[in-house]
Amino acid sequence: MNRLGHQAAAQATWLSVCTAERFLGEQALSWQHVVAGAIVASSMCADDWSPDSDQGGVMAKIIPGGHRGPTHMPELVAGVLYLLTVVAGDDLDWFVIAAAAAWGSHLAVDFFWGGIPFGILTLMGNKKRMGFKLNTGGPAEEVVTWIMTFASVPLAYLALGGPTPWVTA
Ligand SMILES: [Zn+2]
Repeated sequence: MNRLGHQAAAQATWLSVCTAERFLGEQALSWQHVVAGAIVASSMCADDWSPDSDQGGVMAKIIPGGHRGPTHMPELVAGVLYLLTVVAGDDLDWFVIAAAAAWGSHLAVDFFWGGIPFGILTLMGNKKRMGFKLNTGGPAEEVVTWIMTFASVPLAYLALGGPTPWVTA
């Protein structure tokens, strides 16, 4: 999946979390947190601060295993997110959730567009991937990117506290 697709997925995921938090959670996030989280999710879903940090730049030289190697292992991503929650503490939990939306959605779409590694087996040299082999930049990607981009508009409205006929408060 290309950058645009990763961004659409990360934004739709983050705004869905915010919307769920508003209607199902104990307390809705402030609009400042919704906006800041959207920026975090958008910048951490692709390139150097995403699982694709193994694709170029400094990180690619440090991380072994080539593209979609260790950085795309679901356990490792979950482990790093867990460490982030410990470091960040309660006040920055929105940041960690936004990072989780970015990296989680990244792995989810990579699962369909080319596959992700078989977890921990990657470290033992396993090169096989789980998932599907949809074409990056192909028609399916275009449709899914479009749907997620479009869905982000009503999701943003709901996440930011827009009035609805079914909730008065
Ligand atoms: Zn990737």
